[in-house]
Amino acid sequence: MKRLVILGGGESGVGTAILGKKKGYDVFVSDFGKIKENYKQVLTDNDINWEDEKHTEELILNADVVMKSPGIPDKSPVVKKLLEKGILVISEIEFAAQYTTATTIGITGSNGKTTTTMLCYHLLKEGGLNVGLGGNIGKSFAWQVAEENYEYYVLELSSFQLDGIINYKPHIAIITNISPDHLDRYDYKYENYIAAKFRITMNQTNADYLIYDNDDEAISNWFLNNKTNAQLLPFSLLKKLEKGAFLNNLTMEININEEEFLMETTQIALEGKHNMKNAMAATSVANILRIRKQTIRESLSNFQGVEHRLEKVLKIQNVQYINDSKATNVNATFFALDSVTTPTVWIVGGVDKGNDYTELFSLVHEKVKAIICLGVDNKKIIDCFGNVVDMMVEVDNMHDAVNTARHIAEKGDTVLLSPACASFDLFENYEDRGNQFKREVRNL
Ligand code: ADP
Repeated sequence: MKRLVILGGGESGVGTAILGKKKGYDVFVSDFGKIKENYKQVLTDNDINWEDEKHTEELILNADVVMKSPGIPDKSPVVKKLLEKGILVISEIEFAAQYTTATTIGITGSNGKTTTTMLCYHLLKEGGLNVGLGGNIGKSFAWQVAEENYEYYVLELSSFQLDGIINYKPHIAIITNISPDHLDRYDYKYENYIAAKFRITMNQTNADYLIYDNDDEAISNWFLNNKTNAQLLPFSLLKKLEKGAFLNNLTMEININEEEFLMETTQIALEGKHNMKNAMAATSVANILRIRKQTIRESLSNFQGVEHRLEKVLKIQNVQYINDSKATNVNATFFALDSVTTPTVWIVGGVDKGNDYTELFSLVHEKVKAIICLGVDNKKIIDCFGNVVDMMVEVDNMHDAVNTARHIAEKGDTVLLSPACASFDLFENYEDRGNQFKREVRNL
């Protein structure tokens, strides 16, 4: 019996354990932190051995194969030891993919993964395909491979999941865009992070597709020195393309496999330029899979977006409140500021991951009338924008942030929470931050 050791007893770890057990492995789950009660119960119910708050090396270093959850860095001592011993360390996606014949659509990128994944899933489901949703979202892919019978999967894939693939190939891959993020896990080398994203296409053949942002500098540069076997389907807001998706005045035009798809952009429910890109990517997938055009159009016009991503909360006294709590880097906030069309009170701040704010200067100058700094340490934001906006206020909780914003905002303005930073200084996570924002807005 082969021994499968799983590092990390979260959603992907427990899903892999269930699948591994079903496939006849001797399974052991080890988590250095605490495993949640509900997951412990699942493991115990399925007769799977586990430990938490420790890693017992004798029980780990005897593995034939190890599945490491994406949150655990290669630098962690136990992973280092496994690698030194030459033991195969893979990701959940790699492990699970070998046990399904389903067609997978893999979606990666620095921003827009979740939105594009959800939209793509929506299009395929409305199109009548037997499709599951997984990766970083909801129930783990491995768990579904063990228990469901989907013919298609739409998978949101982080660079960490892609680091752990060997043979996995999506039939259709999307790279939404690339901008610096998570560099702490890539030796602070941007090129390593870019290379990790492009692993999504490394096993693709000429029967497969790679959909990508043609306007993205990091992506274009990669193509100068690298190749993929996949058929290329770029999308662009700036250029007309022979193949792929582009804008023709107010029409989104897509050409794939000699077929043309047209739709008025005003009919697409998602707003903002970045979302137009996400829509182009997801619609390209729907066209490859030959979903009926009328169904695609209807689905694009009724998809309302995902919580905490440019989510319109309420309009109070003609001030629009927008929750973009998921904007945890500068690029996401760039598109949020780009999409607002009124004077804006901008709530920003949190844990800075090495942000360079200069690319925001002209948008901030043009649109932002006041900045509300919501973080433990706001010095960098104050230094960067002190000369760009007239009014800056520091707060350390969401109640004060929203109430200060209300006092400053005038009829016709927007109050935008788009922090460009992680949330861990004052909040549990970005969902908590967004939920607190919405609660405070509703209490105004
Ligand atoms: P991810 O899953 O990659 O983090 P999300 O869809 O959750 O992406 O969006 C994260 C943030 O990025 C949100 O603030 C959202 O408004 C913004 N965003 C969404 N799509 C894009 C895009 N294509 N380019 C830049 N920013 C985007």
